[in-house]
Amino acid sequence: MNTITSILETMDYGPAPESDAVAQAWLEGHGRRFGHFIGGRWVRGARHFATLDPARGSELAQVAQAGPSQVDQAVQAAAAALPAWQALGGHGRARVLYALARGLQKHARLFAVLETLDNGKTIRETRDVDIPLAVRHFYHHAGWAQLLESEWPHHRALGVVGQIVPWNFPLLMLAWKVAPALACGNTVVFKPAEQTPLTALRFAELCVEAGVPAGVFNLVNGEGSTGRAIVDHPGIAKIAFTGSTEVGREIRKLTAGSGRKLTLELGGKSPFIVCADADLDAAVEGLVDSIFFNQGQVCCAGSRLLVHEGTAARLTDKLQARMARIRVGSPLDKSSDMGALVSPVQCERVAGFVDRARAEGAVVHQACAGGLPAQGCYYPPTLVSGVDTASEIVREEVFGPVLTLQTFRTPAEAVELANHTRYGLAASVWSESIGLALDLAPRLKAGVVWVNGANQFDAACGFGGVRESGFGREGGAEGLREYLHRPAPAAAPARKPARRSAAAASTSTSTSTSTSTRPLAAVAAIDRTPKLYIGGKQARPDGGYSRELRVGGELVALLPEGNRKDIRNAVEAARAAMAWERQSAHARAQVLYYLAENLAAQSPRLLALLGPLLGDAGAAAELDASVHVLFDAAAWADKFDGAVHQAPSRTVVLALHEPVGLIGLVAPKARPLSGLLALAAPALAMGNRVVALPCAAWGLVAAELYAVLDTSDLPGGVLNLVTGPVDELADVLAAHAEVDALWWPDASAAQAARVEALSVSNLKRCWVADEGPLHDPRTLLAQAVQVKNVWVPYGV
Ligand code: NAD
Repeated sequence: MNTITSILETMDYGPAPESDAVAQAWLEGHGRRFGHFIGGRWVRGARHFATLDPARGSELAQVAQAGPSQVDQAVQAAAAALPAWQALGGHGRARVLYALARGLQKHARLFAVLETLDNGKTIRETRDVDIPLAVRHFYHHAGWAQLLESEWPHHRALGVVGQIVPWNFPLLMLAWKVAPALACGNTVVFKPAEQTPLTALRFAELCVEAGVPAGVFNLVNGEGSTGRAIVDHPGIAKIAFTGSTEVGREIRKLTAGSGRKLTLELGGKSPFIVCADADLDAAVEGLVDSIFFNQGQVCCAGSRLLVHEGTAARLTDKLQARMARIRVGSPLDKSSDMGALVSPVQCERVAGFVDRARAEGAVVHQACAGGLPAQGCYYPPTLVSGVDTASEIVREEVFGPVLTLQTFRTPAEAVELANHTRYGLAASVWSESIGLALDLAPRLKAGVVWVNGANQFDAACGFGGVRESGFGREGGAEGLREYLHRPAPAAAPARKPARRSAAAASTSTSTSTSTSTRPLAAVAAIDRTPKLYIGGKQARPDGGYSRELRVGGELVALLPEGNRKDIRNAVEAARAAMAWERQSAHARAQVLYYLAENLAAQSPRLLALLGPLLGDAGAAAELDASVHVLFDAAAWADKFDGAVHQAPSRTVVLALHEPVGLIGLVAPKARPLSGLLALAAPALAMGNRVVALPCAAWGLVAAELYAVLDTSDLPGGVLNLVTGPVDELADVLAAHAEVDALWWPDASAAQAARVEALSVSNLKRCWVADEGPLHDPRTLLAQAVQVKNVWVPYGV
């Protein structure tokens, strides 16, 4: 036995090189020089840059750099192709997507070798992961195209979509973006990363072979400035960006107020949690897949190992032994586990992080089998211990094969450490107790959680982050939604006009205190001076000012004038009401029904208040609509569930609908009561907490509503109402780091521009200047949730 073991230990893998002859011949066939692909043909560029093989340092090809005029040409071509592409219908587009899937499959090996040459990742990864997943995305979305009209009625494509991707999964990121965009009937202007354009260029050729109509897919090459020209182009209806958080922020600012849809898939610093009862051998293999896969250049890499302190020593021993067997070498060699990093710059960047950690006193362990190749952008598997939450290497995304190690004592502490980051892309949880794993998963701030696994992806399962990892999803129904728009229905024939419209109510600031003025004749016998509603209590405004509410020139009430401090107090109260998220949907539904019941019970008083403004019939309709939206939201609370996906790899994927968190909302100007509730009720039903800025006419009914809220079971802080200068208060909400989303459907273009620009602070989700979702409960509910995919393996 000992002899066998010692023989096995001395055995090594022989080289198993993949030939790159076909890929090199393809490059030669193009004279190693590429232009842009616009309107179905190749367009030459003026300036060129080199794309390199990072493993050998050699130049693979020269690629043209597009400037604004070429980007404009591509946008024009894409716009011209739109009508025919949409007229083709879902089935017609499904056939084209299917042809692309088949074409990718047919040329899979060429795509895999090109990707390996250009990026430095191993042929095992490109052959077994990147290319099959890209194929899967085109098949999956061929299916969505086929089903589009039946499953997404009333939805429309957005138009020309600008798509910008990074270098770590060049063809896969293309597939994630191009397949859903085309399925929905959009046309595309696509920019690959300047380091890795080759597979996108081959894909452009495939578009011709697969019969994609000219102009439907356009490719412009270039660096950041080309991406910037796409972002700046007014003909683009949506930007889909994957890349660094820094550039994502810049794009958010640049697109603010443009009305363009935006999805951002950004960086991460994902935790890899190993509980006391985990299968340690499996966890070590999971770590190899998580942080050393693709040389750690993975946005969702489990780069922070959090291990139970009683297990840490054993896990570290096993991990170090495994690291010593990892083969770092030529990416074209099928026996290499790790290949080259993408560029010398990236290698230096990674080394810089590790050197600084070492200088700060961290313990750095590096190992691999047989050492690193003498030349090329190689970096060894690295484990860094002796660090804490303040260490740069724990806080910042390294984007290389570098794992940090921290310990925890209790599951609660693991969650706290895991969430101690500005990012929120992914997490892995390792435990033999499914109960513990599924208890931790919802508490982790992340768009994806893998139980006893890592880095699993599928086209049916949305992928994307929260917090500074961006917003929006790619894959699944939630990803498809990002390429569609539901327009507001054409205006219904005008009904008999109400006596005065709610929007006609006007306000002017007064310095009188809220106790000194009597409302006048229009709302006879009402002597009320509502306050703000914060933390379940009526609160005087911090500044002590109020604002006159006039209807048709008559003073009807005084509205408290909230300020920045009042918003901060309201956000604080909403933060403290976190328990609402954890209430069951059944419990939330009951609260909303009860609220509706209490509201209905107040109808005589509310009708008396609203009558002078809206007319008797208008007031009755307003009240009826308010009760209705509360009932609707209560009804949906336990029905707008997520889904279960059956991913191909013996895994069930629980697509959970989680609340977005703390939503700031600005109620529509029309409809003093139902306008506010139409937004707030679905947000509350899905477990969010709300800070709302009601419209001016709200002042008429506010005091009544507070009484209703006081007698309902809505916990204090779950719904907070602050009246005052809407623009100023909305700005405070938009800039507030604790607010996760901002809703302002009837914002003007200027208002939308301001709040979207301010939202970069924490990259909050903004739904502004778009009243379409208001008319469709499901779209509204979809705004109120974010999908977290929890992957749970099965089998032995
Ligand atoms: P990057 O942001 O520098 O570049 C990404 C792309 O944006 C490239 O095509 C680049 O040319 C382009 N670009 C650069 N500046 C631009 C500008 N001002 N305007 C428009 N486009 C611009 O990122 P990178 O270093 O190439 O990629 C690594 C980053 O990507 C990491 O942070 C990683 O986490 C992230 N990433 C995220 C995901 C995800 O799904 N969340 C997936 C892969 C990579």
